[in-house]
Amino acid sequence: MAEIVTFGEVLAEFMATERNQSLGTAGTFAGPFPGGAPAIFIDQAARLGSTAAMVSCVGDDAFGRMLVARLARDAVDVSAIHTRAEHTTASAFVTYYDDGSRDFIFNIANGACAAIEPNQFDDVLDGAKLFHIAGTSLFSGHMIDLARRVSERVKAAGGRVSFDPNVRKETLARPGARQALTDLVSRTDILLPSDSELNVLLDIDDDEAAVERALELGVAEIAWKHGAKGCRYYDDQGRQAFESFQVSEVDPTGAGDSFGATFCTLRTQGMAASQALVYANAAGASAVSRRGAMEGTSTRAELEAFIDGHGASVTP
Ligand code: ATP
Ligand code: MG
Repeated sequence: MAEIVTFGEVLAEFMATERNQSLGTAGTFAGPFPGGAPAIFIDQAARLGSTAAMVSCVGDDAFGRMLVARLARDAVDVSAIHTRAEHTTASAFVTYYDDGSRDFIFNIANGACAAIEPNQFDDVLDGAKLFHIAGTSLFSGHMIDLARRVSERVKAAGGRVSFDPNVRKETLARPGARQALTDLVSRTDILLPSDSELNVLLDIDDDEAAVERALELGVAEIAWKHGAKGCRYYDDQGRQAFESFQVSEVDPTGAGDSFGATFCTLRTQGMAASQALVYANAAGASAVSRRGAMEGTSTRAELEAFIDGHGASVTP
């Protein structure tokens, strides 16, 4: 059993070493770095001192062993990460461009993590206070079905569900995808969209109207991420805005996951939202200033030192 549980991809990430290096031309890559949105989330949750478990699959290969060892080192419960000898561990290649955009090639839907079985949740789900769904993990009907069934199970037992949609227009083009994602929103307690994701997901251009709709669907809290511009927070009490910390961005991948995990974990530990958002902003800013998506996760003491070092206070 674990307080915080997630499922989906654990993957080996390779980063182009030069900016503007196309993924279609020969070049050098750094890696493998441990990655995958839910893996970063759960690593961050464990580093903040909650019991945290990941449900996934890896291949019987060096990437899988590296990932499991890394999560275990950070105190993640890896007992529900199973090895599937017939598959290979998921991987991703990423390159960054000067205009801030990035290109990815993912090998996830055909990787080992696509072979998660429902009974893998049985060992870790008892007593879960939070089940986190990363939108990147909803790459098949099977994964969407798992998300739906497990969130129902967790909510029925008194736990909460967090959801980072990570949705793109192309994702919604898949038949039935919009309905499935809206269904998940209606089972979500903490929603963690970034930029225009909530607008795209709910098909509502106006931000406040989109928030209103999400709250009507039953979402209790929305922490809306805006990169270097910080974040906004909404609940039934109203709206608050939080500025980000000033850092130089080295690697933006994983900021949203570190931010989301910090917010959800500290909320689950009982911290007030306004304070948890200061920590979450610090976690996002720390993540972008380090290379490698999972290298940006932080302990509570590291976040407090970061906040202090930026002349801010943990009490907003
Ligand atoms: P990703 O999906 O790439 O992991 P995201 O789009 O979900 O990220 P972002 O809005 O990019 O999430 O980042 C999450 C949070 O991290 C922001 O709300 C902010 O607090 C912090 N952050 C991100 N980029 C920066 C930056 N350049 N400077 C300072 N803080 C940042
Ligand atoms: Mg995101």
